[in-house]
Amino acid sequence: MTARILSGKIIADAIKAETTEEVKALKNEHGFSPCLAAVRVGADPASEIYVGNKIKAAAELGIVSEHRHLPVETSQSELLSIINELNGRDDVDGILVQLPLPTQIDERVILESITPAKDVDGFHPENVGKLSLGYPSLIPCTPAGVVEILKRSDIEISGKHAVIVGRSNIVGKPMAMLLLREHATVTICHSRTADLPEITRQADILVAAIGRSGYIRSQHIKNGSTVIDVGINKVADETSARELFADEDLEKRLKAIETRGFTLVGDVNPKEAMEKAANFTPVPGGVGLLTVAMLMKNTVEAAKKRRGV
Ligand code: NAP
Repeated sequence: MTARILSGKIIADAIKAETTEEVKALKNEHGFSPCLAAVRVGADPASEIYVGNKIKAAAELGIVSEHRHLPVETSQSELLSIINELNGRDDVDGILVQLPLPTQIDERVILESITPAKDVDGFHPENVGKLSLGYPSLIPCTPAGVVEILKRSDIEISGKHAVIVGRSNIVGKPMAMLLLREHATVTICHSRTADLPEITRQADILVAAIGRSGYIRSQHIKNGSTVIDVGINKVADETSARELFADEDLEKRLKAIETRGFTLVGDVNPKEAMEKAANFTPVPGGVGLLTVAMLMKNTVEAAKKRRGV
C-alpha cells in the first residue's frame, strides 16, 4: 500500500481563504479589522521564524498585527505589564506569547495573565476547562488543525479508535479532548506506556506528538490506518536520512542536508508509514501549516465574540 498524502497546504490555504472572506465582511459590514498582538521575548531562532510566519499570514489575510519583540533579559513583571496593556486595549482581539520564554519568566503565570477572550492559543485554564466540558471556547491551534485535516479529507472519526502518543498541554491533551468530542474512542500514550506498539497498532487514527525524529515505525502502525504526524525535528546526518526517506524524497533531503545542514522530519518514519498507512501527513507541509491557519481563524473568532458580531 502507498498512503495518500494529506496535504496541509491545500487545507490551510482553504481555511485562510475562508478567513480572508470573513475579515473582508467584518470590515465592510462592521467597520473593523481583527487585530493580533504577538509577543516574543529573546532571540530564539525558531521562535523568530514562527512569529514571522504568523505576522506574514495575518498580513496576507487582512488581519492587523502588532509584533512586540522584547530583549532576553525582560523581567516577568515587565512582560506582565505589556500583557496587561494588550488585555486592556479595545483594538486588540488576540494575544499570543511565543513559547519558550527565558528561564526568569514563569510561563504559567504569563499564560494565565492573558484575558481568556483574547487567548487565541487556547492555553488559558479557562479555555482548557471549557474544552474539557465541551463548551464553546478558543481551542489550541495545532490539535484544532488536525481535526480540520481529518474532516476535510473525509476521514471518519466517529466510532474509530484514535491513539495519541504524547500528553502535553499544547498538543496531546487537547487533541484527546477534540477527538473525544468528535466521538472517537480515545487512548493517550506517553513515555511510561508499556508496550507502545501493541496499543498504537490498534489505532484507526494515530496521532504522533512526541518530539523524537521518526520514532513511530512500521511495527507501530495498523495497515490501512490514518497517521497524523505532529512532530517537527531536524535531521542533520546522512545515515539517519537514509533510514527515514526513500527514492526522490531521499535525494531532496540529502541535498537539503548538504546545502543548509539539516532537513525536517516528524515523529513518524515517513518511509515506513507510506508503506503501511492509508493516509499520512507529510513533514514539512502537513500539520505545521494548519497551526498558523487555525491561529488566524481563532483571531477572527475572538474578534467576533468579543465585539458582539
Ligand atoms: P512535549 O511537551 O515534549 O511532549 C512530548 C510527549 O511525548 C510527552 O507527553 C512524552 O511523555 C511523550 N513521549 C516522549 N517520549 C516518548 C516515548 N518514547 N514513547 C511514548 N511517548 C513519549 O512535546 P509537544 O510540545 O507536545 O510537541 C510534540 C512534537 O510536536 C514536537 O516534535 C514538536 O516540535 C511538535 N509540535 C509541532 C507543532 C506544529 O505546529 N506542527 C506544534 C507544537 C508542537 P511524558 O509526558 O511521559 O514525558
